[in-house]
Amino acid sequence: MTRLPEEVHSNKAFGWAAKDSSGVLSPFNFFTRETGEKDVTFKVLYCGICHSDLHMVKNEWGNSIYPLVPGHEIVGEVTEIGCKVQKFKVGDRVGVGCMVGSCHSCDNCINNLENYCPKMIFTYGTKYYDGAVTHGGYSNTMVVDEHFVVSIPENLPLDATAPLLCAGITVYSPLRFYGLDKPGLRVGVVGLGGLGHLAVKFAKAMGTNVTVISTSPSKQKEALENLGADSFLVSRDQDQLQVCCHWHIGWNHRYGICPTSIVAIAWAVEISWEACDSWYSRETI
Ligand SMILES: [Zn+2]
Ligand SMILES: [Zn+2]
Repeated sequence: MTRLPEEVHSNKAFGWAAKDSSGVLSPFNFFTRETGEKDVTFKVLYCGICHSDLHMVKNEWGNSIYPLVPGHEIVGEVTEIGCKVQKFKVGDRVGVGCMVGSCHSCDNCINNLENYCPKMIFTYGTKYYDGAVTHGGYSNTMVVDEHFVVSIPENLPLDATAPLLCAGITVYSPLRFYGLDKPGLRVGVVGLGGLGHLAVKFAKAMGTNVTVISTSPSKQKEALENLGADSFLVSRDQDQLQVCCHWHIGWNHRYGICPTSIVAIAWAVEISWEACDSWYSRETI
């Protein structure tokens, strides 16, 4: 049974909550659990605003539980630790992303893929082990199992670090997972929004040659001059894409597909033409 936090906990907290699907957030007093033996309690200093928060606030995915305190790009400073916490101490700079719990025993958890755990607990709007609904980082304090807390290096400014906890890891992870992190590779970043600009910065830092693909010609200056991308394609410009097809691996000749198919295939936040190649080959076998 879902229970309200105040039915379970006694530590006072304050946040901004959606009380319904109107999209309005208002001040909200609530309760967090006591610091458990493996918990890290920290003062929230900054929290990013992810578009998922907006979907959840308005119940656009149909699973929101109100009152709902959003926020899953959270950074702060540790104020208390449990007796069995090993990775952190009071005063440490820490961050929390989109999840705060999982089963710790399934294949995904054992392989450090807790985000695929069928019992994964989201940072907010999900029933925790104790029956209380979790609240996120649009608040002044959080209590989180240290397994889901990351350390923030001293040389990173905390405000700029917050978006890395969702948008950042979302693009960093596939770059590393698919081996797109090596000089000499070409990476296409489709869409230059919140995730796209981080993908460009990561991919450039990894030494790849980065092409930004956007529907908006107005993004070109931002992509090339401010973020350091190597080239820019307007996805609605058939001529540009046709040229791209000819100068790179001859997609349309090999597969008989039109340039817009490449964009459709590569519409994820980042993917290299080489990865597109193997992906498409797999899908057509
Ligand atoms: Zn997010
Ligand atoms: Zn699991």
